[in-house]
Amino acid sequence: MPLLLDGKQLAATMQAEIARGVAALQQSHSRKPGLAAVLVGENAASQKYVRNKRKACEKTGIDSWLHELPKTTPQSELLELVNQLNHDPRVHGILVQLPLPTQIDEATIIQAVSPLKDVDGFGPVSLGLLAAGHPRFLPCTPFGIQQLLVRNNISVDGKHIVIVGRSNIVGKPLALIFLQKGVGANATVTVCHSKTPDIGAMTRQADIVVVAIGQALFLKADMIKPGAVVVDVGINLLPDGTLVGDVDFANVAPLSSAITPVPGGVGPMTITMLLHNTLQAAKF
Ligand code: NAP
Repeated sequence: MPLLLDGKQLAATMQAEIARGVAALQQSHSRKPGLAAVLVGENAASQKYVRNKRKACEKTGIDSWLHELPKTTPQSELLELVNQLNHDPRVHGILVQLPLPTQIDEATIIQAVSPLKDVDGFGPVSLGLLAAGHPRFLPCTPFGIQQLLVRNNISVDGKHIVIVGRSNIVGKPLALIFLQKGVGANATVTVCHSKTPDIGAMTRQADIVVVAIGQALFLKADMIKPGAVVVDVGINLLPDGTLVGDVDFANVAPLSSAITPVPGGVGPMTITMLLHNTLQAAKF
């Protein structure tokens, strides 16, 4: 039986730790961490993500504010709001929920968020510091994946990790995190993407496989080596309404030594690391 990497349980444990950190900061510095969430338009999935993030803030004692703007908001107006939040001393973290409507350039907005409030870790300063080996805010999903392994005593040191997917929010920063010198890192990393000719030939070499591509049940049992650790980042809704990951869990799990479920694996960790980053930001 593989070890089930239970993100829901670990998220609860870590959120309790964060709540204690929030209380301690209030006591020592009379300061309450605050997260400002910005939502443009009425994308149902984005609304749900932001609602869950704010609920988690409330549970841990972090202040949160929601700024809802209409879908037609011009870029200049959003930039003005980000600028206001950059200067608001109650706001320690700024979360601009992606995707943004097409009239707004995401990179411009991400770059406008103050690097000291970039709790999503998507901005060029956060990513540059990570690439240089001096990370400040780690992007939340990759950070959550690292914690899921570390806190389940799965060593990454010296292991070969194959990541499928090279997005700026998951695959690419995850590779940089595992390449750091230090605990929960020191790995040998291979990154695959849609132009990699034979992905199975890569993933079969891996001690740890991470799949983050958004294709239901992509990783099959014949694509891993027996005993590998498997991390599934994907979230895919099948036509019948079932939620599945990028890994064919039923057939891959029996061959693996540890595996994340979907839902309840990586997902809950993402929100938790956002809270962690917001607490850290309030300490600067
Ligand atoms: P993305 O921006 O769409 O990037 C997908 C990546 O996968 C790209 O690098 C793409 O390659 C690669 N890819 C697509 N199809 C492929 C294939 N058949 N073989 C190999 N590589 C392929 O996606 P993302 O934002 O990283 O998200 C990936 C998945 O994770 C989605 O299901 C998303 O919903 C989920 N996700 C979950 C969480 C969470 O908290 N659990 C957080 C973020 C994302 P190219 O670069 O060559 O196009």
